[in-house]
Amino acid sequence: VRAVVAAGVGVVEVVDVPDPLIEEPTDAIVRVRLAGICGSDLHFFHGKAPVEPGGQLGHEAVGVVETVGRHVAGVRPGDRVVVAFHNACGACWFCRRGQTQLCENFRNLGSGAFGPGLGGAQAELLRVPNADTNLLRVPDGVDDERAVFVSDVLATAVYAVAIAGLEVGDTVAVVGAGPVGYCCALVAREAGAASVVVIDLDPARLDLLRSAGIDVVDANREDPESALAERTEGRGADVAIDAVGDPAAFASAAEVARRGGSVVVTGMYTSEEIELQLGVWWARAMSLRFTGVCPVHAWWDRAMAMVAEGRLDPTPLISHRLPLEDAAHGYELFAGRRATKVVLAP
Ligand SMILES: [Zn+2]
Ligand SMILES: [Zn+2]
Repeated sequence: VRAVVAAGVGVVEVVDVPDPLIEEPTDAIVRVRLAGICGSDLHFFHGKAPVEPGGQLGHEAVGVVETVGRHVAGVRPGDRVVVAFHNACGACWFCRRGQTQLCENFRNLGSGAFGPGLGGAQAELLRVPNADTNLLRVPDGVDDERAVFVSDVLATAVYAVAIAGLEVGDTVAVVGAGPVGYCCALVAREAGAASVVVIDLDPARLDLLRSAGIDVVDANREDPESALAERTEGRGADVAIDAVGDPAAFASAAEVARRGGSVVVTGMYTSEEIELQLGVWWARAMSLRFTGVCPVHAWWDRAMAMVAEGRLDPTPLISHRLPLEDAAHGYELFAGRRATKVVLAP
């Protein structure tokens, strides 16, 4: 089968790989219909996270179950499913608490720095271990383009907004207008925020949010801290979400949050360091939460319900729909910030 692999830093290729097979009785094989290219795939692309040359890429997929092992009870061949972007056992102490991102048997799809990698989702066929835990059936009314967001981005946003402790009537600031930031903004509005403000430096990405009816601050033109102060009688945002994963974005989130407010970090960090003035955070009575990887299994039902009920639509984010064979072009566009979201169809 054809699959996207890393060929070196900044180079991806589409090559033939051996067909994935049922290895355990709890496995399923999924024929991929649509796979996303994600910001975290770029960590491998740029060499920020290690990847073996030839390692398969991709972790966001929707597809159809092709075959199942004899212990799989929850899905059958022919079912259309979303694949969890990280694979959890469903049985360990953390999984039982819904913290599947901390699973003792955690495995990434695609070549991962965070555990023994599985095959990538940017491929024609994908082996999914613990299929009953890691596949979610897609309702008939939800198309592949909406469903693919449930495998990662939208579930991540639902989770980030939920753990922020958002209350109805709150002002929410989201730093970063990429796919996760976009979804956080829509989810926060849906969750009852009175006002949602997205801060970014990229006017095109901000336009996309404006089209969705979200208030935006272009940080090239306006100081985010003053912009949030103006909208909140000088206080600042009740909740600020770092949806980038960059020290400047974190600083911005911390700046726009009010005293007693909460800062939630969902953007991914690896080895970055900053100085945190503990006295300032203490005196301001701030909450700080790191989401880690989204425990997608605990949140994807809610994300799926949101798209199924038409309460929000992430598909305006898709700027490019390409055949799997054009994956290299897709990575180039996305890495060059000329695409907001690329989806690949095998
Ligand atoms: Zn992703
Ligand atoms: Zn587990």
